[in-house]
Amino acid sequence: MCGIVGYIGSKQAYPIIINGLKRLEYRGYDSAGIALYDGTDIQLAKTKGKVADLEERVAQEISKKGTLGIGHTRWATHGVPNDVNSHPHFSNSGDLVLIHNGIIENYASLKIELINRGYTFKSDTDTEVLVNLIEEIKKQENVKLGKAVQIALNQVVGAYAIALFDRKKPDEIVVAKLGSPLAIGIGNNEFFVASDASPFIEYTNNAIYLEDEEMAILRLGREIRVRKIKDDTLVNPNIQKLKLSLEQIEKGGYDHFMLKEIFEQPSVIKDTYRGRLLANQGIIKLGGLEDYIPRFTNANRIVIIACGTSWHAGLVAEYIFEEWTRIPVEVEYASEFRYRNPIITEKDVVIAISQSGETADTLAAIKLAKEKGAFVYGICNVVGSTISRETHSGTYTHAGPEIGVASTKAFTTQITVLTMMALKIGKVKGTISQTDYMMHLRELEMIPTHVAEALKSNDKIEEIAAVFKNATNFLYLGRGVNFPVALEGALKLKEISYIHAEGYPAAEMKHGPIALIDEQMPVVVIAVNSNHYGKVVSNIEEIKARSGKIIAVVTEGDTEVRALADYVMEVPKTPETLTPLVTTIPLQLLSYHIAVMLDKNVDQPRNLAKSVTVE
Ligand code: GLU
Repeated sequence: MCGIVGYIGSKQAYPIIINGLKRLEYRGYDSAGIALYDGTDIQLAKTKGKVADLEERVAQEISKKGTLGIGHTRWATHGVPNDVNSHPHFSNSGDLVLIHNGIIENYASLKIELINRGYTFKSDTDTEVLVNLIEEIKKQENVKLGKAVQIALNQVVGAYAIALFDRKKPDEIVVAKLGSPLAIGIGNNEFFVASDASPFIEYTNNAIYLEDEEMAILRLGREIRVRKIKDDTLVNPNIQKLKLSLEQIEKGGYDHFMLKEIFEQPSVIKDTYRGRLLANQGIIKLGGLEDYIPRFTNANRIVIIACGTSWHAGLVAEYIFEEWTRIPVEVEYASEFRYRNPIITEKDVVIAISQSGETADTLAAIKLAKEKGAFVYGICNVVGSTISRETHSGTYTHAGPEIGVASTKAFTTQITVLTMMALKIGKVKGTISQTDYMMHLRELEMIPTHVAEALKSNDKIEEIAAVFKNATNFLYLGRGVNFPVALEGALKLKEISYIHAEGYPAAEMKHGPIALIDEQMPVVVIAVNSNHYGKVVSNIEEIKARSGKIIAVVTEGDTEVRALADYVMEVPKTPETLTPLVTTIPLQLLSYHIAVMLDKNVDQPRNLAKSVTVE
């Protein structure tokens, strides 16, 4: 995920692009860059860091002149955030310059082909491969830029929103989209390009949102042409009148970043496994894991260290790793682990989980585990973060920036990575049957569709939230792999609504918490189809007998729990081990709506910070 901006017209492009990038920084902010055509040549400035750092770099290095330009704020997927990997990227001749949001999955094979044809590469990005592929096609086929882009994109697998121009023909910008967003603003003989409409909202409210597999040529003095990338057919573009405010646009039309991030989950879970999960071929490819599988298969045990929501993802992993790999797993709070004298040897594997990759306690725990000789594997969202550098290897979740302080999509994408790891290791170790392995691969590929389905209950969940918004306590119960989901549901509610909530394994209730239950107490029970279903039904009976109010998360079509519960929130059926990826969705929505109704600051709850870089 990243932000792209482009301009061609008669105004100075620099201020439009820089201000636009600032508005898009929510999409990524590990590096930034700009390319301007100054009338004779392309001026390029790029740097690791934020758009503010880019402004300083521009002031030192290039003139700000020019009425054509493109800019980028990066959220790295391929190659660490540094100056060289920042966008825009030049082609080898220096004629073409391109910005890209997305992932070119087959970049490695395309890169080898281009190297064989004499191309050289400065960066580690997938993007630089694309700009050179376009250049090569343009030369070989002797075609115009638009045509070369079209041919190239038909060879590409992955997701992209791109914008590029040619130094030798500085009267047009070519744009294209598949999977990543791209909006075109139409002014008076001028065009704007951006990841969302916020960079051009003050200049025009006429916009086209390109559809997937569409491209457009924005040429001065000519009407915009939109074509299908596949077969070159012309499309009649739908020019929309923008009515949204700037803030609404940045939030993608949602009221809060948290809600936007909850609704992004179908697409970011797909991003997490894109190019890594090849279900039909029975393959899981995790770059960071391939060379280290023996470290896992020979491990005495796996110790997972994390904090907060990431710790809950670790607890889910405990169930699935033990199930499929038969390696004992322990899950520890990083802050506790580091301050005792943990027994860790070189036969242990430590998995550290952190959205930001900067969590101070987790970082300290990693250092300790390394000192004791353990192999340390990181799971982070932010590319190039300290944890990603301090660990021996790891996997990124590719969830895109998470702005809402209460973590949502980071949790489900962490579980997605951990699930792929457990499946892969179990397969190599021979502790999961081929049938089970294949079935879970296919089912994992269905999760984005199931999550999208679960999100459809949003209105219903809002109604349930209205009923319970004034409760002062909540209990969350789950069993097995859904016990950590209960903990996570309770944490979400506490974090953003400030209502006291506790998560428990459902069977533990009778060892204490049952004393809390009366007609005032809402109890959220995760009661999806599982090995524990019958037992959970009995737990629900026990709550009912004490007049507790039951809000149950059930599998679609469930009748038994529905008959007992006061309210139900349905999720699609999926194998038990994968259920946390869907059961967590209604719980996120429930806490969100309660917090909104209580008028709390959902995206920035009191006393919290997004990344906890202090002990
Ligand atoms: N894959 C590209 C990179 O890593 C673009 C990432 C993005 O969308 O920010 O540079």
